[in-house]
Amino acid sequence: MGEWRKKIREVTPYVPGEQPQFADMIKLNTNENPYPPAPGVAKVLAGMDAGKLKLYPKPDARELVDALAAEYRVAPEQIFVGVGSDDVLGMAFLTCFTGEKEILFPDITYSFYPVWAELFGIRYRTPALDENFLIRKEDYFVPNGGIVIANPNAPTSIAMPLADIEEIVEKNQDSVVIIDEAYVDFGGESALPLVEKYDNLLVVQTFSKSRSMAGMRIGFAIGSRELIGAMYAVRNSYNSYTMNYPSILCGVEAVKDRAYFEQTKAAIVTTREKTADRLCELGFTVLPSAANFLFVSHKRISAEELFGKLREKHIFVRFFKKPRIQNYLRVTVGTPEEMERFLKEIEACLADMP
Ligand SMILES: *Cc1c(COP(=O)(O)O)cnc(C)c1O
Repeated sequence: MGEWRKKIREVTPYVPGEQPQFADMIKLNTNENPYPPAPGVAKVLAGMDAGKLKLYPKPDARELVDALAAEYRVAPEQIFVGVGSDDVLGMAFLTCFTGEKEILFPDITYSFYPVWAELFGIRYRTPALDENFLIRKEDYFVPNGGIVIANPNAPTSIAMPLADIEEIVEKNQDSVVIIDEAYVDFGGESALPLVEKYDNLLVVQTFSKSRSMAGMRIGFAIGSRELIGAMYAVRNSYNSYTMNYPSILCGVEAVKDRAYFEQTKAAIVTTREKTADRLCELGFTVLPSAANFLFVSHKRISAEELFGKLREKHIFVRFFKKPRIQNYLRVTVGTPEEMERFLKEIEACLADMP
């Protein structure tokens, strides 16, 4: 009896940041955008015909793929869309990495990568970031089964120059190189222009951060027709209808409104720089951010202690109890008002802890 327990798959899942629900909270722990989606999204939702939901959506998410193809100047056949970039990245791992040879990604990066690798039985190795938390490109100039780089990296917020990314792709033309650009719109250099030149490159982006649509779940990848075709073949062996009707229509509206996109991005970058300056004045080390978050460490007070104090005040930031980064906090950039309150509470905490 109970032998089934030995037959089921056992995995250690990814743990996302918490989603607390307090009316007075300031939520700076999961890198969501503090601004609402483009106004066209609300209009589409308000005018949506629920009767359309009785039919399956288009399996190729045609309108959304066409809007992305026009925006990023690639062919529709070069775009894969999925339920957030987590879905896209998971499908990319399943398609591009067979597990025979180990894949490479940094020791400090998005903590979902090792989870997918383990789920799919893909061997991996994690070259260490250098003492300044920079990726050492030379670590990737070795035989491998594939490469994954988040650029800008998370949770460090640091961007790698495009020339270094190109060197990694150029020296690894017998492997697929995935560049996870979840934060690229806030200041990184996208590898998209390299897609025409290297058919082993896959660039992954998301609507969750720079397009303020984490709740809608839209992500996409751009690559060669062959690579994208292989990803759709795998997806269609698992679930053909990943993109629901509301997200296809809303996604199109978000992509079309370039002015709103530029405006909200610029607001976040301005707030990021002001917040970084103030934190430096308060005795924090702030890593150079090209993302919508700051990775900071105080020279006197431990990150864990500060995390707990902020939490009591309903200010939520992210703390990773992991080697090398356990004295850092990851703080999402909110609105100017939110950051003002965050800084006030930080000042109060520092005054309380002599
Ligand atoms: C947020 C994030 C993602 C995935 O976000 P989705 O909401 O699934 O699109 C992927 N990679 C990194 C590095 C992220 O920070």
